[in-house]
Amino acid sequence: MLGNVQRTILHIDMDAFFAAIEQHDRPELKGKPVVIGAAPDRRGVVSTCSYEARKYGIHSAMPSRTAARLCPHAVFLPVNGRRYSEVSRQIMEIFQRFTPLVEPLSCDEAFLDATGARYLFGDGPAIAKRIKAAVAAETGITCSVGVAPNLFLAKIASDMNKPDGLTLVPFSEKLIPAFLAPLPIKRMWGAGKKTQAVLEAHNIHTIGDLQKTDPVKLAAWVGENAAATFRRLAFGIDSRTIETESGEKSISNEITFSEDQSDSAAVESALLDLADKVGARLRRAGLFTATVQIKVRWKDFSTITRQRRIDPPCCDDFTLRETALELLQKEGLHSPVRLIGFGTGNLCKTADVPQLELFQIPEKQTSSKREQLSRAVDRIREKFGLQSIRRGSTLD
Ligand SMILES: [Mg+2]
Repeated sequence: MLGNVQRTILHIDMDAFFAAIEQHDRPELKGKPVVIGAAPDRRGVVSTCSYEARKYGIHSAMPSRTAARLCPHAVFLPVNGRRYSEVSRQIMEIFQRFTPLVEPLSCDEAFLDATGARYLFGDGPAIAKRIKAAVAAETGITCSVGVAPNLFLAKIASDMNKPDGLTLVPFSEKLIPAFLAPLPIKRMWGAGKKTQAVLEAHNIHTIGDLQKTDPVKLAAWVGENAAATFRRLAFGIDSRTIETESGEKSISNEITFSEDQSDSAAVESALLDLADKVGARLRRAGLFTATVQIKVRWKDFSTITRQRRIDPPCCDDFTLRETALELLQKEGLHSPVRLIGFGTGNLCKTADVPQLELFQIPEKQTSSKREQLSRAVDRIREKFGLQSIRRGSTLD
């Protein structure tokens, strides 16, 4: 069920990234509780903290004031986005030496498809060891790696032996369900707080519980789509492939605010505007997108991107807007925003899509209706010249 060709996927995650960089740059901080984020006497939250600080119960997204109460002698430092981006580029460059199939998930995390790299560098664990050694030698900080036959399992594994961990998932269909069984359901992809509460209410606490749940009941509790996904993932089945940014067509657009923006309504409306503009460009080019991405640059210049796959690919403003907003709201505005961006990727031509339609259920009708509406808006904008007003600077 894992497919005929056994893939080797690595998920690499830096350990306490920002705090580790500070401890490396200032050796006097080594072994000390270090908290990166808002100052202890200010409103605002912890961005990252060192493992020494975690022993006091401090964690990401906790108010800095609470962190200061838990550990009054912790060293608090502001986020130094420029420095962290520099190290982020360094580690991504190291990953690229082993395979061009690198999918960054954030500044300190990436998936690698090392299937082909095995012929050059040895098996999955051997590649993981080489990467860990290169990262440590060149940046002075550690990472944790999960090695697995697919993305879902690799991501779960990288978190299991932090810090400086290397976790190998059994490459055997028979052993994988038992490997996953003891893990809490919060480790499932797509199981948000709401879904978790629903599952907990039905006495499903671990992935093992999920494996034993009647699929019909599960669908009734969480919906058919989520139930199908959970069933697959609970047994360790995940056929998704690495998505690389380079070499693939993309259309995106971004704006920098004249002043750092902390009003979430203003940031959201700017993002929706960008989504509309990108949507219009997609439709004009006869393209559909399979990936929606948002980019946020915070006040301190640190930058994040978050993306989601769209299946089937779309080109309508409604889906683009909804997805953009969900990604932004999931991230939350924890600090003022300098720049906001919206992008699409993995574009395909119109001609590829009608084939999909043959197999689509009513959902697709909604999506083509959405497309028709979006195209109607395009025509109105063209006729009344609104388009030229709505157009902004673009970045491809
Ligand atoms: Mg990390």
